[in-house]
Amino acid sequence: MSPEFELIRRHFVRPMRGDALGPGDDCALVAPSPGCELAVTSDMLVSGTHFLPDTDPRRLGWKTLAVNLSDLAAMGATPRWVTLALSLPQVDDDWLAALSDGFFECAYIYGVDLIGGDTTRGPLTLCVTAFGEVATGKALRRSGAHDGDDIWVSGQPGRAALGLADVLGRLRLTDARRDECIAALEKPLPRVALGCALQGVASAAIDVSDGLLADLGGDDYEVLFCAPRSAHDSLRRLSESLLLPLTRIGAMCAGCAGDVSLIDAQGCELPVAHRGYDHFS
Ligand code: ADP
Ligand code: MG
Repeated sequence: MSPEFELIRRHFVRPMRGDALGPGDDCALVAPSPGCELAVTSDMLVSGTHFLPDTDPRRLGWKTLAVNLSDLAAMGATPRWVTLALSLPQVDDDWLAALSDGFFECAYIYGVDLIGGDTTRGPLTLCVTAFGEVATGKALRRSGAHDGDDIWVSGQPGRAALGLADVLGRLRLTDARRDECIAALEKPLPRVALGCALQGVASAAIDVSDGLLADLGGDDYEVLFCAPRSAHDSLRRLSESLLLPLTRIGAMCAGCAGDVSLIDAQGCELPVAHRGYDHFS
């Protein structure tokens, strides 16, 4: 066996729960369930841009997969399969073992199989493509909101940014707050159960990874969604059953796409300095 495939076998081939054809051939083979569409998404994590080079590899493995599952969740899709393309500056077996443990921990919890990928030498970059299933025609798109719909967000966006500010020494959080914010930064929980439950309830949805205001500051993986006023009570019950805060933060009104006004409790408009993270601005 070539050293490259031996490395892949050692770290990235594990027993699969489904019956897809996994790593080893030229392609993986998957069979989507009848009546479902495939939802497909890729996210790339680049060292120095998306994570600090000394990030704990186990948490990095988790996050690499979790950020992709968050996109599937925001579409209302159930995660099924993933591929992993890796570029590595060198082979460090302890680092790779920890990375793959974190990756497979997340894969196991969310029920996905790693079915293939690519492994090359180069600057540290991790790219996952995730495949999910959603009943045909039921996916939650970004475009479905109506005038008058409420705007909701899951969880507590802002914690990851606070965690990063603490890590970088820009502020000091209390110990309890710190743990929670670092976990939000390094071990985000994709809102898969929420996304599935929002099918037929939400009119539109998006995940808010690059900042809440840009998508309607930073690196939380929550779901921002719109729903008619009539869904209020069922969303309250859903929040209780998922043990996940769901907060109504605004309303849609007719206007230009992407035009967001921030209104305070007294009804005054607030200036918005940073709308979110843009890699090219
Ligand atoms: P090819 O030369 O056809 O690109 P590779 O030698 O790159 O094939 O990969 C061999 C097999 O290992 C393929 O099935 C591929 O999907 C799988 N593979 C490669 N890298 C990874 C990885 N990081 N995780 C999971 N599977 C991988
Ligand atoms: Mg290859």
